[in-house]
Amino acid sequence: MHRPRLLIVFGTRPEAIKMAPVIAALRDRPQITTRVLATGQHTMLLTQALDAFGIVPDANLSLTREGGSLDAALAQLLVGIGCAIECERPQRVVVHGDTLTTLAATLSAHLRGIPVAHVEAGLRSGDLSAPWPEEGSRRVAGVLADLHFAPTAAAVAALRAENVPEAAIHLTGNTAADALCAIRARIAAEPALTAAIEPVLARFKAKRIVTVTVHRRENFGAPLRGIAEAIARLARREDIGVVVPLHPNPAVAAPLAARLDGCDRVALIPALDYPAFVWLMAASALILTDSGGVQEEAPALGVPVLVLRDLTERREGVVAGGVRVVGTEAARIVAAAGEVLDDAHAYAAMAVARDCYGDGQAARRIADVLLATMTGNMG
Ligand code: UDP
Repeated sequence: MHRPRLLIVFGTRPEAIKMAPVIAALRDRPQITTRVLATGQHTMLLTQALDAFGIVPDANLSLTREGGSLDAALAQLLVGIGCAIECERPQRVVVHGDTLTTLAATLSAHLRGIPVAHVEAGLRSGDLSAPWPEEGSRRVAGVLADLHFAPTAAAVAALRAENVPEAAIHLTGNTAADALCAIRARIAAEPALTAAIEPVLARFKAKRIVTVTVHRRENFGAPLRGIAEAIARLARREDIGVVVPLHPNPAVAAPLAARLDGCDRVALIPALDYPAFVWLMAASALILTDSGGVQEEAPALGVPVLVLRDLTERREGVVAGGVRVVGTEAARIVAAAGEVLDDAHAYAAMAVARDCYGDGQAARRIADVLLATMTGNMG
C-alpha cells in the first residue's frame, strides 16, 4: 500500500529541539512515512540538539554559512531544499518557526505546489525589525502554509486577524514543553547527561546562579555591549555566579569575551548540549536572555526571566508574571536583576512553575492532525 510521505525540514538548534517531539510522535504513526531533512544552518549547535534526542536526519545538506550574507544563505537553502524535495517527493512539507530554513523550505514547497504545515505558527511581534529577519519569515510562512499549529491562544488570534481560515488553525501548545518534559525524564534516568555543566555548578556552589544567553541579530553591536556591561556589573555581587553559554557566532562571542574575560564570578563557556543546558536553567536563580525558546522553557521550570529585548512576541510569560522585558541597556538590566534577586516577595511571585506555553502534548496533537489530513483517519 502507498503510504503518504511527509518531509520535515529544519536547520537550527531551536528547530531541532522543538521538532524532535513531533518527529517522535509521527514515527509512532506508521500510516505515514516521515522523512527528516536537516539543512545544517548551524552545524555544531544542530548536531548537539539532534544528539540529545537521538535523531539522525535522513538527509543533511550541511550548508554552513560562515559569515556570508543572508541572501546568499537563502539562495543556497532554496536550491538545496528544492533538490531534496525533488528527491524525496513528499505529499507535504512541515516547517517550524521563523528561520531562514523555514522561509526557504516554505518557498521551495510552495513553488512545487506542495502543501506546507507550519509548527509554532502565529507568533507576531508586530514589528518587522524585531526580531529581524525572523518576523518576516514567520509572516511569509503564515501566508503560504495551509496548516497552522499555533502554540497559544494569542497565536491563534494573530492568525485569525490575518484572515487565515479557521479550519486551518490548530491550537496545540508549544512543542518546547514536550521537549523539556522528555529531556527532564531522560536526565532523571541518566544523570551523567548533565556532566558538561557540573564543574561550573561546583564552582558556583554557594552562589545564586544567573544564566545569560544571547544570540539575536538585532542585539549585535551596541546592545550586546550594554548586555556585557550589565553582566560585569552584576558579577560585582559576591552572592552571584554568572554563567554565559556562548553562541558560537563571533558577532556574539567576541564582544562578550572582550568585556568579561577574566571577570571573577563570570563563567564564559561554550554552548551546552540540551540536557546540560536544561540542568543549568533549573539550577539558576535568574535567567537573562534574548532567546525565544528559553523564554518558553524557564517559566515551565519556575525560573524568573529578564528578556534582553525591547519587546517580545511571547507575551504569555509576561502576563503570567514569570517574565519581564528589560531591554539591553546596562543600568536597566542591573536594576531589574537587583529588584528580582533582592526582593523576596517579588522573587517568589515570579519563581512559580507555569505551563503558559503548553502542556507537553503538542506533538501528539500535531501528529494527529497531520495523520488525519494525509490519510483521512484519526489516531
Ligand atoms: N540551548 C541549548 N544550549 C545552550 C543554550 C540554549 O541547548 O547553550 C537551547 C535552549 O534550551 C532552547 C534553544 O536552545 O531550547 C534556544 O535556542 P536559541 O536561543 O539559539 O534560539 P531561539 O529560541 O531564540 O530561536
